[in-house]
Amino acid sequence: MKITYLFGFILLMNTVFAQKEDSIQIASIYKNALNSTIAHKNLNYLCKNYSERLCGSENAEKAILWGKEAMQKLGFDTVYLQKTMVKHWVREKNEICNISSTKLGQFNANVIALGESVGTSGNGIEANVIEISSFEELKKLGREKIAGKIVFFNFKMNNDYFMTFHAYGDAAGYRVHGASEAAKYDAKAVIIRSLSLISSKNPHTGIMRYDEEINKIPAVAISTIDADSLSTWLKNDNNLQIYLKTNTKFLPETLSYNVIGEIRGEKTPEKIITVGGHLDSWDNCEGAHDDGVGCMHAMEVGRIFKDLNIKPSNTIRTVLFMDEETNQRGGKSYAEETKSKNETIIAALESDAGGFTPQGFSIDGNESQLQKLQTWKPLFEPYGLFFKKGWGGVDIHPLKEQGVPLIGLIIDSQRYFDYQHSSTDVFEAVNRRQMQLGSGSLASLIYLIDKYGL
Ligand SMILES: [Zn+2]
Repeated sequence: MKITYLFGFILLMNTVFAQKEDSIQIASIYKNALNSTIAHKNLNYLCKNYSERLCGSENAEKAILWGKEAMQKLGFDTVYLQKTMVKHWVREKNEICNISSTKLGQFNANVIALGESVGTSGNGIEANVIEISSFEELKKLGREKIAGKIVFFNFKMNNDYFMTFHAYGDAAGYRVHGASEAAKYDAKAVIIRSLSLISSKNPHTGIMRYDEEINKIPAVAISTIDADSLSTWLKNDNNLQIYLKTNTKFLPETLSYNVIGEIRGEKTPEKIITVGGHLDSWDNCEGAHDDGVGCMHAMEVGRIFKDLNIKPSNTIRTVLFMDEETNQRGGKSYAEETKSKNETIIAALESDAGGFTPQGFSIDGNESQLQKLQTWKPLFEPYGLFFKKGWGGVDIHPLKEQGVPLIGLIIDSQRYFDYQHSSTDVFEAVNRRQMQLGSGSLASLIYLIDKYGL
């Protein structure tokens, strides 16, 4: 009996000492992150020199070379490029959306073509417009009311949710599927209310998908302020005319790359912890919050480990994924390669929710992995972080079928959709300190996963 107590006591003391040691290490990781200006300078360079990094574009290719060089400078042991073929869609800027009424006058609304949408013909499209707030309403009105018109989906993101990503989830269906749904009833084009919770003159783009069986019609997003004006005008004149002109095309598919940097594991280098963000961005912005910050977070893990001389047991692999925004080819190529090489990925972490203050981690894994994370809760309490079951990330998602636990960095989402996919997503919109809290959070969790497994 006494021996059992003694063993129990020793075990308890070991845990206490280990937690003390870990909390000191984590404090030094955060201290390093919060005092470093390197990632902020790198973000500035990336945003100002290689903005509009849509996959296949020249700037995306330049950003890849820059990312490789930047990780070499940060002292990663190995840096290399991983091939992935990408689609190359291009949009001519200065789309026109002129709204005119014989009663009210006319105004130009700010619109932007949705990603991978077809353009209007060279002469543009002129038609009456009908406002629709849901797919049910569209169905109810049917072909008789819809045919020959431009459908205006004015679905507002719901303010009720605490996590704005839930509101985004509700509304994104109109952006993604609105064109094909409206085309079923022979609509000429669709205009989608921008996915944002603020009143703004800047339209927000994003990917859309056509149903291959249905006629492809042009699709644009309209700024929230112009959406409100259009809605008001329609109440006073349901015979409004819209002239819409967009010009988009696909160029041939092109060879692109994920950028990978590794800190080699000391004990079991064949086992890997993956951490990533995506290097591509939309073609109307600097891609600072989405997802330059995620790339910086992932690169910072390596930099902080090197700077603090933390020698991981397993290999820490930073991945700057290509093509998150359109077809997620980079994430798929990465998972295919880990599978074909039969690699062991202990865990994959992703940061793709902006550069605001981190709030925690969500894990797409099993119950015991969540419980393991929960045992580290006291270590993260000083930094205000929690753990929960949930989404991992778009780029790491293809690893799920290999049984890899996926972990997403949860970030304060209140203002994310002020910026996402709009021209306001620029370097100046990111606060260095908030971004670096994310770097510290990821590096700390990876330190623990490396030490104790998951
Ligand atoms: Zn993103």
